[in-house]
Amino acid sequence: MSNPEPTHATIAEDISCVVCGYNLRTLSPDLVCPECGTLVQHSLMSEKLAFCNQEWLGGIIRGFYLLVLGLGVLAAMSVLPFTASFGFFQGDALPLLTILGSTFLVIGAFNFTARERRRNNRIGNSRSRHLLRILILAWVAFMISHGISRPSLLLTGAVLHSLLASIVASLAYVRWLAARSANPGLQQLARILYLAFSSILLIWVIDSIIGLLAGNPDLSGWSPLAGVRMLSGCALVPLGIGYIVLLFFLIVTLHVDCRNARKLAARNG
Ligand SMILES: [Zn+2]
Repeated sequence: MSNPEPTHATIAEDISCVVCGYNLRTLSPDLVCPECGTLVQHSLMSEKLAFCNQEWLGGIIRGFYLLVLGLGVLAAMSVLPFTASFGFFQGDALPLLTILGSTFLVIGAFNFTARERRRNNRIGNSRSRHLLRILILAWVAFMISHGISRPSLLLTGAVLHSLLASIVASLAYVRWLAARSANPGLQQLARILYLAFSSILLIWVIDSIIGLLAGNPDLSGWSPLAGVRMLSGCALVPLGIGYIVLLFFLIVTLHVDCRNARKLAARNG
């Protein structure tokens, strides 16, 4: 026996119109907002990105590109010194590139994780966005310290650990975004990568703690987890490729959602 839907069901909770904020309580879902004429359905589906504020979504997309640009500059920076022997590279450019790349990275990360300002926040904001911001800042701080101080394996370890932790936090945030996107299937890929990267991070952290406790602060000596650590290091190559593929599909999906949000906003005047 099927359960017939009540034909005159009304909204029993405080839900604001996504466009004007009017409280839609007691209205029927098949009506339009009395204030601005937006379909009540749109506000009920506001957890979907396509029904979100298009400016917020646009900001997230811009943040994503800045983040990628920052990563590109920093990646180029780590390759450039090797070209020095061919005369292509001026060593003086290194600090400038570090500042430039880090600035893009931090501004990008903060835009990408911008808080969604919603009156009826039924699903809440992602908690991982704060973690991602903190970890990116830590990563940049370690990278700059690494650049200006004497080479130390401990600092190199801090750079690598904070980078890996940033990737784990970004995957938690991407899972949250993907669940609301036009392609919720992305959530599965994000989940698998999240589990894989967090396992590797865990191994690295345990291995480092064992190393430090054993009075081996530069982590260069033998450790009981050395073999596992080396294997996990090899696994980072295919996982890194998977991560890039995920980010590619995420940005394509965010563009689709943003286009739909824009269409909707235009239709609602
Ligand atoms: Zn309205």
